[in-house]
Amino acid sequence: METTTIYRINETDRTINIAQSVNDSDESIHGAVLNTRTFTFDELMNQHRVFCEHTEPYDAFRDRLHSALRIGRSIEVSTEDMIARFIAEYGKNIFFRGYVTSVIEFYDKERYVLLKPNDVVIAKLDKRKIQDEVSQKLMEYIDRQFTLMCSDAYFSHKANMEHFMIQPGRTIIAADNYTFNVFHESDNCLLTVLAEIGQLVHRNKWTVCQCGFCHKLFLGTEGEVCCHSAECIEAQKQQKEAIYKENTKEYSDVKRDYDAYVRRYKKMLVEAGIEKYHPTEFDEFMQAKQERMDAMDKLKRRLIRNGLPTTELIDLSAKFKAEIKALAEEMVERFWRKV
Ligand SMILES: [Zn+2]
Repeated sequence: METTTIYRINETDRTINIAQSVNDSDESIHGAVLNTRTFTFDELMNQHRVFCEHTEPYDAFRDRLHSALRIGRSIEVSTEDMIARFIAEYGKNIFFRGYVTSVIEFYDKERYVLLKPNDVVIAKLDKRKIQDEVSQKLMEYIDRQFTLMCSDAYFSHKANMEHFMIQPGRTIIAADNYTFNVFHESDNCLLTVLAEIGQLVHRNKWTVCQCGFCHKLFLGTEGEVCCHSAECIEAQKQQKEAIYKENTKEYSDVKRDYDAYVRRYKKMLVEAGIEKYHPTEFDEFMQAKQERMDAMDKLKRRLIRNGLPTTELIDLSAKFKAEIKALAEEMVERFWRKV
C-alpha cells in the first residue's frame, strides 16, 4: 500500500492545500483532491519548527525500526501509536506524519529481501549480513531525509540552502463546474512542498518574524511586527490610531504655545501705539507673524501625515519665536521716542 501526497499552493492568500491518499490508485488520488486540508504558510512554518525541534520521537522511531529488523525475518511496524503520541504531545504535525509514512514505506520495501529471499538457504546463512545491509541503508535514509527536512532555509531567505534533487512525478487535474483544481505530487516527506514554499520565501525575502501582538511566529519581511491574523491586524490599526491621536495633541501643544507667544508681542506693539501711529510697520509685523504661522501649520500637517516626531516643529517654533521677538523689539526701540 503506497501513500501519495499531493498539494496546491495559493500564493495570493498564502495558503497551501495538501492531501494524502492511502493507496496509489487513480480513484484514491481523485478522492484525496476532494479531501484536502488547507494550511496557511504561517501554520506550516510553525509545524515545521515543532517537527525539527523535537528529536526524541524521531530517535525512538529510529531505534524501533532498527530492532524490528533484527526480529526473525523482520516484522511489520505500525506507526499509529507513534503518530498519536506525537499529536498528543505537540499537536497535529503534517511533517511528522509525512516523515514517518515515508520512512515506513522505505523500510517495507527494503526488508523485502529478508521476507522473500530469492535463495532461502543463502538468506538463512547470511541473515546477519543482510540485516546489517538493510539496516545501514535504512538508517542512512532516515538521517538524510531528516536533515534535509530540517533545513532553516525553507522559511528564511537568510539561511543557506542544502543541495538536493528529487523528482516527484505527476500533475493531477480535477476540473469541476466551478474551478480547475491542478495539484502536484510531492514526496511523502514533503520536501517538494517545503522547496516550493522556500522558493517563494527567497523570492519575496521572507523570514521568520515574531508578532508584536499575539507573540506567535509568522513569515514576513524583516522588521514586520504584525502577523496576518484578523485580530492582530485590528490591534495594530487601533494602536496606530492611538499613537496618531497622542502625536496630534503634542503638535497642537507646540503650535498653541507659539501662537500665545506671538500674541504677547502683538499686544506689546499695540500698547506702544505702533498700530495707531505706524500702521505700515504694524502690518509688516502682522504679515511676518502670519507667514510664520502658516509655515508652522504646514509643517505640523506634514509631520502628522508621516507619523514623524515633534522635534522639527519645536525647532521651527524656537526659530520663529526669536525672529518675532527681534522684529517687535526693534520696532518698539525705533518708534519709542517718536510716539
Ligand atoms: Zn499576531
